[in-house]
Amino acid sequence: MKNFALGPVEMFPYTLEVASQQVPYFRTPEFSSLMLETDAMFKECLQAPSGTQSIYLTASGTAAMEAVVFNCFNEKDTVLIIDGGLFAHRFVEICAKHGIEHDVVKLNYGEQLRENVLTPFSDKNYTAVITNAHETSTGQLYDLEMISRFCKNHDSLLIVDAISSFMADEYNMHELCIDATILSSQKGLALGPGMSFVFLSERLYTNHVLNIDPPSLYFDFKEYVKNFERGQTPFTPAVRVAYELHDMLSHVLNQGINIRVANTEALAKDFRARIAGIDTISIPEYPLSNASTPLLFSDGNGDDIYQILRNDYGIGLTPCGGDLFGKMIRVGHIGNHTVEENELLDKSLREALAKWKSA
Ligand SMILES: *Cc1c(COP(=O)(O)O)cnc(C)c1O
Repeated sequence: MKNFALGPVEMFPYTLEVASQQVPYFRTPEFSSLMLETDAMFKECLQAPSGTQSIYLTASGTAAMEAVVFNCFNEKDTVLIIDGGLFAHRFVEICAKHGIEHDVVKLNYGEQLRENVLTPFSDKNYTAVITNAHETSTGQLYDLEMISRFCKNHDSLLIVDAISSFMADEYNMHELCIDATILSSQKGLALGPGMSFVFLSERLYTNHVLNIDPPSLYFDFKEYVKNFERGQTPFTPAVRVAYELHDMLSHVLNQGINIRVANTEALAKDFRARIAGIDTISIPEYPLSNASTPLLFSDGNGDDIYQILRNDYGIGLTPCGGDLFGKMIRVGHIGNHTVEENELLDKSLREALAKWKSA
């Protein structure tokens, strides 16, 4: 099965090599140095300013999203959530669950997040704006510069779930004044699932996290920060993923992170150009992340095509649920992919459409 999914994704051979080793005991100086080196590389990739605090969680991305909400905010705060799809909507559910007051910028189907969409929310002083960089369920890439400007003008903190955008699109914590970045191992980093990462600005950590007693023992950020002073985590981390991560960041920085982003962009552009001539498939008009190409099926046959590709061609794409079922399927460009694979996918897609038509 060739996997064009959005996470877990196809891993690089060097990662598979690391993943095949024994998992060592981790309360050692060697593991501590590995983690501290990883952290320095991570912060370089993110352009994280000095004073940034890192949290290495063993959990999927949603746990990191939830932990950010309850470690950073309490009943005194009101947050603004940009809800343009399934993943951002999770923040709405998380805030409701934890009794964090919130307003929601709801995007309609196909709607682009523009400055005027935020204007109605200008009067209230929000503690923070919470958004994703790339709403994975629709493929929309948000204008973080515009959101950052809104935050600066309204003295709000900026919380970004960059889980599916990091390594696929440019990202700069310093330039965009981002106060929290949430990442996960199984998307653009192309590692096994199991770890998530949070990077907190000094002001968010000092003014909020240090003053909040979170309703969780496992996810208390203060414990993670304290332990990380010596390169350790409070509880057993996904040690294998930690080794994959160190290796991956070394590879990425060897080339330069801009090269990794440019490679993903080239793959996305190549694929989009190939399928431009298929008349029953189109691509949304809002800005897209390099991480994926959402395909819109005007015949509503997206799920049939997804099944044909899976069963007859051994090609795995990412289907959509809910209102988008049958209308949209997504092609991931993150992970280990090549232009030759795009060529094969384009050819298989055209054959699958012809099969569907003649069936
Ligand atoms: C994948 C993803 C998540 C996290 O999902 P998990 O299954 O909990 O790892 C969160 N946000 C975005 C934007 C994602 O793409």
